[in-house]
Amino acid sequence: MSNITRRHFLTITAGTAAASMVSFPFIAAAAKKQVLVIGGGSGGAIAAKYLRMADPTIEVTIIEQNKHYYSCFMSNEVLSGERTIESIKFGYDGLSKYGIKMAYGRALAIDPDTKKVRLEDGRRLAYDRLILSPGVDFKWDAIDGYDESVIEKIPHAWKAGQQTVILRKQLEAMKDGGTVIISAPPKPFRCPPGPYERASQIAHYLKHHKPKSKVLILDANQAFSKQALFTQGWEKLYGYGTDNSLIEWIPSDQGGKVVSVDADEMTVYAGEFEDEHTADVINVIPPHRAAKIAVETGLTNESGWCPVNEKTFESSLQKDIYVIGDACTTKMPKSAYAANSQAKVCAEAIVADMQGREMAVPSYLNTCYSIVGEDFGISVAAIYHLEDGKIAPIKGSGGVSPLDASAENRKNEVIYAHGWFENITHEMFK
Ligand SMILES: Cc1cc2nc3c(=O)[nH]c(=O)nc-3n(C[C@H](O)[C@H](O)[C@H](O)COP(=O)(O)OP(=O)(O)OC[C@H]3O[C@@H](n4cnc5c(N)ncnc54)[C@H](O)[C@@H]3O)c2cc1C
Repeated sequence: MSNITRRHFLTITAGTAAASMVSFPFIAAAAKKQVLVIGGGSGGAIAAKYLRMADPTIEVTIIEQNKHYYSCFMSNEVLSGERTIESIKFGYDGLSKYGIKMAYGRALAIDPDTKKVRLEDGRRLAYDRLILSPGVDFKWDAIDGYDESVIEKIPHAWKAGQQTVILRKQLEAMKDGGTVIISAPPKPFRCPPGPYERASQIAHYLKHHKPKSKVLILDANQAFSKQALFTQGWEKLYGYGTDNSLIEWIPSDQGGKVVSVDADEMTVYAGEFEDEHTADVINVIPPHRAAKIAVETGLTNESGWCPVNEKTFESSLQKDIYVIGDACTTKMPKSAYAANSQAKVCAEAIVADMQGREMAVPSYLNTCYSIVGEDFGISVAAIYHLEDGKIAPIKGSGGVSPLDASAENRKNEVIYAHGWFENITHEMFK
């Protein structure tokens, strides 16, 4: 697998590099270049792997705060009981065969002048190039009464792992006839269809185990990703639009934006008139920004996200530091597949630069599946290219699943979604 992948990668993105390595073997004997990657998730693990596959003379170390990665993707299926938490848990041992080193610990600070990263335990690691793929953090001051001190009672479950388990247990413990509130944050946020897939998966669980219950989505937005398809699925599977619907959606102009939370009373207040909603289980997904390490290194602008050169992903604000994945800001959605695609472009940009050659012309890709319920999968896809230095979707590429798809087609999309998950996690960790 690794040989084929490496050969394939060299062929499609770094053919000239391979040729120059043959012509100038002294390059391999030169001092080793060091690339550090902060964050071993969807973007970081892939960037590390593709750097090593493209040029094994580069030393690559991933700095990762957790020994295991719990993927957010498919975590909604853990909430519905369709899969176990173990099935979304991954370790990093498989990366050693690519010569990737792991430095476990939290990156606390970056010094762009001396090109060093300081870890929580005091270690300092030097880099020639640094890639950040640290994901998101939450704006803890955005919703009154909702901060880290209440996340065990009112989980966000928007970083998978313990938070996913807490929310699943709360759903299991809830009485039939209970109400579950999901509060969706304002855009941009990680996984645009995620809150609606979550509502679907929870409704799927309720339908089979607690059919008198209901999911109420309080939304800070007016519209959402794949909305017509979700709506169709909700109508078909969960009685959406009827008095007995398992799902109710309140958009922002009808009072959907959550402004405060009272954890003791299990109540949220939303909209201009602070309408009161009490629930048995509350899942607040708070507004997002780039992860703390990116903010503290001065890599973010007023948007809270990291502007980058969209051809290479080098930070617009700090030389030799690259930001990929959810933390950077481009036209691409904040998804694992987007992070994966950006990681490959970024790896190619760094390798090309280190080898003194032009980088290949980049293209970027995203596909995002959502499982609405039993045998009901939907997707959105797009291919992007550079237009005037900015990532833009190629007209006519991609699109969403057709509204008039057959039942077989919807069923197949569930199979494709699970296949996508197997593939992307294999590519990240094996
Ligand atoms: C419920 C849900 C469902 C989703 N479903 C899909 C889907 O179906 N398809 C899809 O494409 N995307 C999906 N996503 C989105 C996807 O999970 C993210 O977009 C993707 O993981 C972003 O990759 P990343 O590399 O930017 O961040 P992450 O994958 O979150 O990786 C960041 C890593 O950095 C580490 N880290 C952070 N700060 C530090 C530090 N200071 N020091 C050391 N380590 C650090 C973290 O521990 C983490 O391992 C979903 C998200 C959610 C919440």
